[in-house]
Amino acid sequence: MDDRTLIRPNGLVIDGRLELGLEILLAEGAVAEIRPHTGVPEPFVVSPAFVNAHSHLEYRSLAGRIAEGEFFSWLEALLPLKRELDEQTAAGGAALAAKENLACGVAFVAEHADLPVSVPALLGFGLRGIVFQETITFRDWEAPEETLRRVRERAKSHQGSQQRIPVLPSPHAPYTVDPASLRSFGASGERVSIHVAESAHERRWLAEGAGPLHGMHDRAGHPPIRARSAVEYLKEAGLCRRGVQWVHCCDVDDRDLELMAGGGVAVAHCPRSNAALGCPRAPVRRMIRNGLLVGLGTDSAASAGPPDMFAEMRAALACSFALGEPLQPEEVWRMATDWGAGSLELEGWSLDPGSRVPLIALHLPEARSTEDLIEHGGPEVVEWLTGP
Ligand SMILES: [Zn+2]
Repeated sequence: MDDRTLIRPNGLVIDGRLELGLEILLAEGAVAEIRPHTGVPEPFVVSPAFVNAHSHLEYRSLAGRIAEGEFFSWLEALLPLKRELDEQTAAGGAALAAKENLACGVAFVAEHADLPVSVPALLGFGLRGIVFQETITFRDWEAPEETLRRVRERAKSHQGSQQRIPVLPSPHAPYTVDPASLRSFGASGERVSIHVAESAHERRWLAEGAGPLHGMHDRAGHPPIRARSAVEYLKEAGLCRRGVQWVHCCDVDDRDLELMAGGGVAVAHCPRSNAALGCPRAPVRRMIRNGLLVGLGTDSAASAGPPDMFAEMRAALACSFALGEPLQPEEVWRMATDWGAGSLELEGWSLDPGSRVPLIALHLPEARSTEDLIEHGGPEVVEWLTGP
């Protein structure tokens, strides 16, 4: 039986660039050939599917529950909502968020989870992914062993017997996990993901012993910690290394960027969430110039609204322009596809011969450039061709 499929769109998005006049031949599900049109094309374009580099599916039901505001007041509002969130409501929200990811062309989700609802949600919609099981030791700062054991157990039961989506314990943030536990995550060599420098409060806490995070630790009676920045603090803890994904990295300066590049961390940029919470604008242009692998993530609906990679790409462009360090649309597309995949150690996420990257069609017949695709794209134009 001949298992060859010819797809003849207006064009293909190759390495982030919309190239018109090309068609693609698939053999047994893999890219066999990319060549100039051999007939009349159909009115859509084809791209590798998206990789959502950072997500919290379980917070989908909290969308619109917290008034937009500054990061710390948002966090303070989130905590009681999170405590009240029952597993059934969270599961319903996670399923909706997984469905929305699929609808906007996402094939792979890098997920932070506390409740055991993310894996069933992803599997339920045929998505691929990796789940980072949230570790917070704020309440057991001096003796976190019991909490760490509980997180490992949670990760194991969340993983269950399925192999498709690994579930790995991960530290939530520098200010919610005690120094000894951060060091053990650093020394483990395991893959982890951690929120870093989302706001300027981390630097104020570590460098000046001031600000709301300082107040939070002071009230809890935790011994003071001193470092020039969150980046230097995590480097000391062994977490500035390959296999570690740093989420946000809004408040990082050039010295931080050099350390990050030297350590080989990957970054997840979440521009809609950052804008909603008034975070500093992440210097993505400089991250890329320093050789860092940067992916694009929708973060949680509690800050960014429902997941939509097109809205996220528009926000990434807007953020870079507002910072005065503009990104090219092609770079933003790559953050949402092959660069995001690379940041999560996924191989073969581009249209090279032999690649089995999942493919989406975008029904935007007028599009002539990647910029057009970002400007006019949305879930309503996405159709799945292969995958996820
Ligand atoms: Zn997050």
